[in-house]
Amino acid sequence: MYPQEFEYFCPETLEDAVGLLSKYGEEARVLAGGQSLIPLMKLRLASPKYLIHLGGIQGLSTIEEQDGMISFGALTRHAEVEESSLVQAKLPMMHDAVSMIGDVQIRNLGTIGGCLVHADPAGDMAPALLALGARVNTLSSNGKRTLKIHELIVDAYSTDLGEDEVVTRVLVPIPQKGSGGVYLKFERRAGDFAVASVGVQISLQKDGTCSEIAVALGAVGFTAIRARKAEELLRGKQVDDVLAKQAADQASAEADPFSDIRGSAEYKRHLVGVLFQRALKIALKRAGGEEVDTVHL
Ligand SMILES: Cc1cc2nc3c(=O)[nH]c(=O)nc-3n(C[C@H](O)[C@H](O)[C@H](O)COP(=O)(O)OP(=O)(O)OC[C@H]3O[C@@H](n4cnc5c(N)ncnc54)[C@H](O)[C@@H]3O)c2cc1C
Repeated sequence: MYPQEFEYFCPETLEDAVGLLSKYGEEARVLAGGQSLIPLMKLRLASPKYLIHLGGIQGLSTIEEQDGMISFGALTRHAEVEESSLVQAKLPMMHDAVSMIGDVQIRNLGTIGGCLVHADPAGDMAPALLALGARVNTLSSNGKRTLKIHELIVDAYSTDLGEDEVVTRVLVPIPQKGSGGVYLKFERRAGDFAVASVGVQISLQKDGTCSEIAVALGAVGFTAIRARKAEELLRGKQVDDVLAKQAADQASAEADPFSDIRGSAEYKRHLVGVLFQRALKIALKRAGGEEVDTVHL
């Protein structure tokens, strides 16, 4: 199907993009990589009269290290994140997640900002970025804001962004030495969205005690979920198989899945427990400095 007719703008500054969004209000939409919006327009599930393409704005697709963070321009493509040596060295969980998005064609066009704002409950970036404690910077006619991931994504396909607000950058804190992270996803076939996914970032003291942990679950709720009670079970303890199983059961209980074409709610809950135990093992190895490849598990 063809989309409904629209007027196309390609502003050269963020301020001009915000100005166009303010002018056209709810009839306008931002276009980034087009990997979610264009299919929706072709199906006529979205029919914006004005498309504001961010592709003409300089500096929106840089990856930089600054002040203990890695900062991504909102228009950074998944493939650029995947290939970044900074991401591979310092944010292995994010590298896992981005490598598992769709296929090469999708990753060559889809962007980090678009992926977050589209807010698909089965998307891969939100759970990984939630576990990493990332924040997003935005710009609107009211000025700049910084939001945590759970403040940005408030429901399935819904964000807290105002009508003329754009995501400008995504800021991810670099985990300290002695911290290991991993993102695992179960999909029905290569390139599909997750049936369930789990991100774990764990920090260990010298004696192996867990000093800090963040667990995020994907595709088992309307948004990515922090499994805070499972985290609580592990914090301050040395992780063994018995504790790992207890925490996995707790993470399953904290999932809030619904049955759909990808599987029953019960099946997804079970998957969370299995993925969690695998993820915890890998995160512990990575915290100890071991290299573990998750893409070819
Ligand atoms: C076949 C297929 C398979 C896929 N598989 C996966 C997968 O396995 N895992 C996964 O996570 N994703 C998957 N995706 C989605 C993919 O990651 C998209 O890239 C992403 O969802 C949207 O990014 P985009 O840059 O293409 O955004 P667009 O499609 O251009 O925009 C998406 C939405 O975000 C808004 N938007 C975009 N950028 C901004 C911004 N900076 N500020 C404010 N609003 C903005 C747009 O207005 C629109 O509402 C898949 C997509 C397809 C088509």
